[in-house]
Formats: sequence, C-alpha cells, structure tokens
Amino acid sequence: MENHSVHPIDAKTIKSTQAQIPQAPFPETFKKSSVSHSVPEKSSLLTEKIFSNEQAKTNGHENTCFSEGFSGQLKTGIAGTPDSSQAGTFSSILWKNPEETKAGNGHNEFQTATAHDKTFRALTLKEILPQWGCSPEKIKETLRTEQSTGFPMALSQHFTRLAGIPKNEALRKQVLPSSDELMEKEHFTTNPLEEQAPSAKNFSPIFLLQKYAGRALMMTSMECFGNCRFCFRRHLRTSFPSKQITREHFASALNTLTKDTSIHEIILSGGDPLTLENELFFWLLIEFQKIEHLKRIRVHTRAPIFFPEKISEKFSKNLKTFSKQSEKPLYFVLHINHPAELSEEVVLAIQRLHESGATLLQQGVLLRGVNDQTEVLADLYEKLTQIHVIPYYLHQLDRVKGAAHFETEVEKGRKIVTELRALLPGFAVPRYVREVPGESGKVPLD
Ligand code: SF4
Repeated sequence: MENHSVHPIDAKTIKSTQAQIPQAPFPETFKKSSVSHSVPEKSSLLTEKIFSNEQAKTNGHENTCFSEGFSGQLKTGIAGTPDSSQAGTFSSILWKNPEETKAGNGHNEFQTATAHDKTFRALTLKEILPQWGCSPEKIKETLRTEQSTGFPMALSQHFTRLAGIPKNEALRKQVLPSSDELMEKEHFTTNPLEEQAPSAKNFSPIFLLQKYAGRALMMTSMECFGNCRFCFRRHLRTSFPSKQITREHFASALNTLTKDTSIHEIILSGGDPLTLENELFFWLLIEFQKIEHLKRIRVHTRAPIFFPEKISEKFSKNLKTFSKQSEKPLYFVLHINHPAELSEEVVLAIQRLHESGATLLQQGVLLRGVNDQTEVLADLYEKLTQIHVIPYYLHQLDRVKGAAHFETEVEKGRKIVTELRALLPGFAVPRYVREVPGESGKVPLD
C-alpha cells in the first residue's frame, strides 16, 4: 500500500499552488530549443467573454445545499448495506484491494488514495458532500450506496467546487454514487468491452491492449483525478491494487512496441495517463520518440477537467518543447461531457495544451439526465470549437454494470445528432458511435 504525504488543493488558489508544484527535470536533448511561451496566467478576454455571464449567475450560491432541489439520487432502503456505524472507515479510501476482498474482509478493506502525481489528493465522499451542503443523514445514505457498489466516490477539489454550484446538477450526477447503480440489468456487465487485462495475480500496472489494427492502447495507470460513475472500466480499475509506477514498469510494454512494427499509433489510456508524475510522463514520450515505426502519440485524458492545475505553465512549456522536436504529432483526446465542466481554470488548462502545439480532440458519453439534450450538446460543441478543441466522438454508453440508469436510447441519440447538424458547422458535430467487442473499429450510429 502506498501512502503519500499530500495535501488537498483549493481551486481558488490555483496560482499559488502551481508555484509549489515540483517540476520535472527535462532531458538535456530536449532543453536545447528555446521556449517562448505566451500562455497568459489569466484566461484570455475571449474566454472571459464566453464564460463571464455564467460565472455571474452562480455568484453567491456556492454554499447552497443541492439536496433540496436534487432528486432521484439519494434513495433509502438499500438491501444488504452494512451498518452505518462503519461509514467512517470510508473517509480515506480509494481503491479496493481484491486480495483482501477475497479474504472476506469485503468493503472495509480499501487502499489509501495514491495518485502517482504527488501534487494531487482526491477528496472522499465524507469530504465532498459537506461542501455541497448535504445533511449528515444524506451523507450516511450515500456512504451506504458507495459501500454496496464497491466503487468509491473520489474527486478533485476543483470539480467538487464546480459540481457544488446548485445549477450544476449535471456535474453532480456524473460523480455521485446513486442507489440506481445497484439495479441489475440484462446485458450490463463488469467488462462490457471484453478487454483482456492481466489477472489480478499477475497484474502489472502497465500493459498493452490491441483492439484495432495499427494501434495499441497502453494502460499507464489505473488511477484518475476523479471517479465517473458511468466509467466502463470501473470494475477493472477497482480490481487491481494501486502501485507507485516507475520506469521499470514500462520495460515490457516498450519492448513489445519496439518489436511490433505493425503498430503506428500509441494511445495512452487508463485510468488517466496524466496521473503519472510529470517526469515519468515526459520520459515516456521521449521513449516513444525513439521507436521509429510509431507515427503518432495519442493521450486520452480527463485531467484538464478534474485537475486543471496539472496543466501548469511549466508542463505546457515542456510539452511545447517536445512537440517542436518530435517528428510524431501529439494528440490529446479530452473527455468532456457538459458545458458546465468548462470552468475558467479548465479553459486555461486547455489553452495551455493548445499553445503547446498538440492537436486537441474531444470525446464524451451520451448520458441520460446529464447531456441528452440538443441544446446542452450544441452549447458544449460551440464552446469547444471556440477554444480550439474539435468534437471527435459522442459515445453511446458502454453497458457497464452499475451504469444502466445513464443509458439513452440510440434513437434519441440519433435525433440529437441530426438536430446538431442543423445548428452547427460540420466540424463541430462529433461522430456518434458505439464500441462493440471484436469489431475492427467504432461502429457509427449516426
Ligand atoms: S476519467 Fe475516464 S477512466 Fe477515469 S473514471 Fe472517468 S471515465 Fe473512467
């Protein structure tokens, strides 16, 4: 079990926090080019223009308890839940250890939060819900739900604050344990995409998955800066013990990549690849640079949304230096589901990624009661294109056990996409797709 000495980060003090973030030493070969970085400390006038109206609307309401106007999430009478006196054991947990669960210790045995980026510590349910103004009874109820699902609530301070704004119910729904997760529904399984991960016994924190020709997925971390309740890897992620990742853990996967000349694109996934320490992340990019047959590097992340502090000025400078010297274009696919996720801090993080020279794409999941409305998605895609992010995929929900209540009918999704095409330029409308195990690519639904 890893237990880092870390501190929660207050989103209101991002500037001062960034100054304290230990920066990765950058390899000599990549230091040579001089970096002229022009990302402003504050968001640009354009950003302020886009978002100022919404910020103004929310002022003065951040401490209002959402529970008064928030229904359908916190139900009582959950079968099989443990005694509420045990609820306190969940105040400092993140990952379930499968060996301990097998030993019969069940949900009381969890590992302590260990994001590999030591500047980060996830807040737990007992820290988050009081910030949202929930009563002790509501907190106990939600703890029992969390306990029954075995998938802990975990969030950054930034997202906790943003989701706590009363009108941002769509954000809370994505991250708050709900008794709906306990419903058994046909076709909803623990591994909906039938991914062949190593067994818990032989688990290496870094492993490769090859789903499509010419591309390989590198699982770089099982950790995230927040837990999404609809995550299709929620069972996979909580099945493995958390480990501090080192360069040695990458040896086998890098060796396979080097030998397999049919792979032209490496996709970093997880968990969230940006939970790696900065030094390790940049070292990995440089290792990819050495593999001649790799043509592109893709990073799938929700870090700018959950933990925008990660994209510090120094981080984006290093990224810019890498992009300038690398022959392999760098793509970031940002997981964003709702326009309310685009806070000022998030927009600044995205601006920094853009200024680094990376190509920015967005993907999201169509979620019932969160973003399954044409006007919500039109607003999201309009804002994204204003900040140089191209909408790439709108995913039909993967049928993961515990997320059935998020599923939207495909017909409704098609209607939304048709309406989006009438409202937005073609490049601002993503492909509506579903992932089907065994298929050679995503299956278009639009
Ligand atoms: S950020 Fe991605 S991998 Fe992490 S919990 Fe959310 S959906 Fe899952």
